[in-house]
Amino acid sequence: MLIDSHAHISDEKFDSDRQDVIARAYDNDVKYIIEVGCDPNEWDKVLEISKNQNIFSMFGIHPHDAIKFNIETKTKLEILLQDKKCVAVGEIGLDYHYDLSPRDVQKNVFIEHIKLATKLNKPVCIHCRSAYSDMLKILKELKELPKGVIHCFSGNLDEAKQVLDMGFLLGIDGPCTYPKSDKLKEVVAKTDIDKLLIETDCPYLAPQAYRGQRNEPSYVVEIAKKISEIKNVPFEEVCKITTDNTIKLFKLGI
Ligand SMILES: [Zn+2]
Repeated sequence: MLIDSHAHISDEKFDSDRQDVIARAYDNDVKYIIEVGCDPNEWDKVLEISKNQNIFSMFGIHPHDAIKFNIETKTKLEILLQDKKCVAVGEIGLDYHYDLSPRDVQKNVFIEHIKLATKLNKPVCIHCRSAYSDMLKILKELKELPKGVIHCFSGNLDEAKQVLDMGFLLGIDGPCTYPKSDKLKEVVAKTDIDKLLIETDCPYLAPQAYRGQRNEPSYVVEIAKKISEIKNVPFEEVCKITTDNTIKLFKLGI
């Protein structure tokens, strides 16, 4: 059994065949999906999708949309985070690659979310792109840290060590299957499987076998295959350990 620990099947790219996509995941042993609602405009849709028995949810405001964080959205977010299918606060963090919200706003909203996670005793799912030094600085300055995952990890080995030391796990996605991802492959090779989660981040980042196409939860199998190859650990063991890691971090009642 596998779990896609980070998916966006609420994306309109799945509007025409969402049920088929969920069924195909199930048929490929991807028994559960954690669906991410990270834009206030999509929260209701994600809540609806998470009513499916094989789908869990997480809610938050993506750094791209950090400017949408206000009293109103914060209040709604607190309610959503207490939904029985909601297992985490996310995805939240910093994105200096696109800079779609001002950096100061991104930082403040990131901190607000972490405080909310600590208050509600939920893990966090952190998105960090081209902002590792600021993310590490923020996390180190916080008095209390939740558990969590650095989703779609894209840092170097030293940055991986720093977040692992703080108790976070690393989310591994399609890029580990790309021919030019030597830095990520090194991180995977040198990190204990106990610290890895597998995820698709679909519809983005399709693994090499499907590159250029829409990504979907059933393709998380490709990530497990690649980790098995990089670490020279049997495929079944990679599936079992990463699934257990996901169940434990998100306290999935399955
Ligand atoms: Zn995502």
